[in-house]
Amino acid sequence: MRILITGGAGFIGSHLCERLLNEGNEIICLDNFFTGRRENVIHMLGDPRFELIRHDVTEPILLEVDQIYNLACPASPVHYQFNPVKTVKTSVMGTINMLGMAKRVGARILQASTSEVYGDPQVHPQTEDYFGNVNPIGLRSCYDEGKRVAETLMMDYNRQNGVDTRIIRIFNTYGPKMLENDGRVVSNFIVQALRGDDLTVYGDGSQTRSFCYVDDLVEGFIRLMNTEADDIHLPVNVGNPGEFTMNELADEVAKAVGRDIKVKHLELPKDDPKQRKPDITRAQTLLGWNPTIPLAEGLKKTVAYFAERVENPSKQRSESVSK
Ligand code: NAD
Ligand code: UDP
Repeated sequence: MRILITGGAGFIGSHLCERLLNEGNEIICLDNFFTGRRENVIHMLGDPRFELIRHDVTEPILLEVDQIYNLACPASPVHYQFNPVKTVKTSVMGTINMLGMAKRVGARILQASTSEVYGDPQVHPQTEDYFGNVNPIGLRSCYDEGKRVAETLMMDYNRQNGVDTRIIRIFNTYGPKMLENDGRVVSNFIVQALRGDDLTVYGDGSQTRSFCYVDDLVEGFIRLMNTEADDIHLPVNVGNPGEFTMNELADEVAKAVGRDIKVKHLELPKDDPKQRKPDITRAQTLLGWNPTIPLAEGLKKTVAYFAERVENPSKQRSESVSK
């Protein structure tokens, strides 16, 4: 199959490119390199079945493909708040452009949505039928509301135009190839612990998240894209239901790095959700999907990746210059 992956040079996208290329598909990786890096996909560039295109999804593009995974969108609060208007455009205009392509060529399309559509949830754990508790005018809304509109567009193109759509609601995912300065909690804590810096816990650290290792998530993506069912167009949560406070996560990172750590508490960002944990019954029954990598094991793999980069900062510098 010929498969388009937008945001393919980013953290999750590059893992997805690798897995689908290894399975024998032809991959078109499309990215504007805002948070993605050539380095994430450089090992695939010599493969005649792999093509890398620098392009912004907010602009139309004509391609002929069988499947589209639409991941293009910055995911870290630091990055999506850098240019919030652009973040909205990416989710809204980008998704319209990709849906237009899917409609034109008859491709199946999967949208990377997020647990952020639940906002600061009052239902716990979160099931897909919960409408969420999102501040429409806050600092996070460019991302949350952008993704909610992307979901709306998926459903309307399906109902109105018969486009074959899928929506995956991704819960916090971590692993190798996250940016060192990504700003998300797992990469922050690991890099800080490796450098011997204090771990920056926002607020009192009692807020919770559920962390999924990237290989498990990629398996969920591929299963959802390739499953047929009457209600397959409705959203599916994919995440690891293991729930940790940020204080517990700091302890887990200390264990994975094998060092004592110190914590410093910084101000809690506005609208930071207090709790988050997926109900994955739908993914289990529809896709037969379950996470397989516990946090301690996934953190060890991620620490190994960052350890090399923190110990060889010149490698990191030359890579960012060439991006
Ligand atoms: P990432 O920032 O590493 O990847 C996003 C990629 O999209 C980058 O390569 C970036 O350069 C590219 N991009 C951004 N705007 C673009 C544009 N306008 N045109 C073309 N490319 C553009 O983040 P990630 O963690 O890999 O996230 C991938 C997707 O998964 C995103 O859609 C994100 O919202 C979603 N998601 C991720 C998580 C998570 O925990 N990692 C959680 C929920 C949802
Ligand atoms: N967080 C933290 N220290 C950091 C970065 C984040 O304590 O250095 C907290 C943040 O306030 C949030 C949680 O970790 O409660 C997850 O943040 P992240 O940005 O990784 O993801 P999101 O908030 O989008 O779930």
